[in-house]
Amino acid sequence: MPELPEAETVARQLRTRLVGAVITDVRVGRDDIVREGLVVVPWYRGSRLVSVRRVGKTVVLGCEKGGETRHMLFELGMTGLLFFTLLHPSYQKHTHLTLSLSGPFPALHYWNPRRFGRVYCLDSEGLRAFVTRRFGCDPLDVTWEQFRDVIHRRRGRVKALLMHQPVIAGIGNIYANEILYRARLHPDRVASRLRVAAVAILYRVMREVLTEAIQAGGSSVRDFLAPDGTKGDYRKHHQVYNKSGVLCPSGCGKTIRRLKGERTSFICPSCQRT
Ligand SMILES: [Zn+2]
Repeated sequence: MPELPEAETVARQLRTRLVGAVITDVRVGRDDIVREGLVVVPWYRGSRLVSVRRVGKTVVLGCEKGGETRHMLFELGMTGLLFFTLLHPSYQKHTHLTLSLSGPFPALHYWNPRRFGRVYCLDSEGLRAFVTRRFGCDPLDVTWEQFRDVIHRRRGRVKALLMHQPVIAGIGNIYANEILYRARLHPDRVASRLRVAAVAILYRVMREVLTEAIQAGGSSVRDFLAPDGTKGDYRKHHQVYNKSGVLCPSGCGKTIRRLKGERTSFICPSCQRT
């Protein structure tokens, strides 16, 4: 399931290859995939793709036509991907939206077999309102002071907080596990009761883990592929995610344990205490 590093990998590939291209056609395979703006889909024909950015775990294309800018926000959901070419004929079935483009990359396909993701067509004001409503601070942009306040003002458990998109946008289960292990924090610790020193470590390792994962092109757990069809390498660097029974990499002598909960947690019982 794509999280921040995977969405960032997608956004970077699209930015370097597609900015400047003109959208010559938009084909929607399933109407219910497009939210808040199916009626404006025809507007995008003839517009120029001027920007690509990541917001949380989503990718936003900026399109310009006649002095007006509109946006197309792609939720990657559980299984959503964007491809330059369909890797296999069977992918056609779950391709819900295709942009035809001028330039060396003639298409962009939104493929999503499990349909947990949506596409939103929004004007600039609509995008601003959407982002404010749905997304909290970005883990890579948030300042230390903002982050400390976010953590200390919440009663919830630290792992749930890291994954709560309206508060901190972009982290899902894989990276929450990896970050908490590196910070030596148990996922059930209450956020507001963490000492400032522990929050400072959490802030530093959150950014380290996400930056390293972006450099590796994300984690290809399940089916993540970048738009050019390549896999992300960061899975090799996972310390705890899906590693139950494996010796803790810190050398403490314990093995990684899987905890049952709303979302599965993987911890070292010795290095991450409640
Ligand atoms: Zn350990």
